[in-house]
Amino acid sequence: MNQLTGVERLAALLRESGRTVALTGAGISVPSGIPDFRSPGTGLWEKVDPMEVAHIDVFLNDPARFWSYYRPRFGMLSDKVPNPAHRALARLEEQGMLDAVVTQNIDTLHRKAGSRKVVEVHGTIDTGSCWTCGRTYPRDDIESLFDPEGIARCACGGHVKPDVVLFGEMLPETAMLEAHALCERADLLLCVGTSLEVYPVAGLPSVTRSAGGAVAIVTKGPTPYDADAEVRLDGDVVEELEALLRLL
Ligand code: ZN
Repeated sequence: MNQLTGVERLAALLRESGRTVALTGAGISVPSGIPDFRSPGTGLWEKVDPMEVAHIDVFLNDPARFWSYYRPRFGMLSDKVPNPAHRALARLEEQGMLDAVVTQNIDTLHRKAGSRKVVEVHGTIDTGSCWTCGRTYPRDDIESLFDPEGIARCACGGHVKPDVVLFGEMLPETAMLEAHALCERADLLLCVGTSLEVYPVAGLPSVTRSAGGAVAIVTKGPTPYDADAEVRLDGDVVEELEALLRLL
């Protein structure tokens, strides 16, 4: 009998799985032209350390500096479109082979690609909320809120913060509980474009495995779960997922 290739084994796992959940990270949006800031030498991310500027303390203490970094980033992300890897996951959901996408990405590209059940554990650039009164503004309205100092201000005078999780902030509890429940029930957790290094999301594959489910990984570079994964694909996310779709 011929040895199955990695992508053939992944297709078999998907067919056998009653509940499959995808867990995605920055790597799935790289083909859409959104650099992974953890990779060195990539455009906007080159000149500043995002872990220092996109920090809740900078937003609270020096909002002009925070927005000088975040405002162009907001604009850049808004123009991006989904790539075939995002569309492959939307297609799997449409075919009833994928229950949900849990994503660390804030770029909204899964929803733009047509995925319906998306849990955004790091928040989204779609909205911003006033730190003082809690009023929420859609992304398109935020640009009109900037004062001459370059700070987004609510009608109440408070500072508007993008609804993304900044460094130094906790992950939203509701989204994390939902992600945890999905991973616990999953027969298969398909991790795409994530190095599985940032907690608490990095703990989700363990949740699936402890509950008796399997983990498959499609990402470039090593992850802490490589030895435990049923399938480990190291190629380009677009090529791997397109090959997978052709087999289903
Ligand atoms: Zn307000």
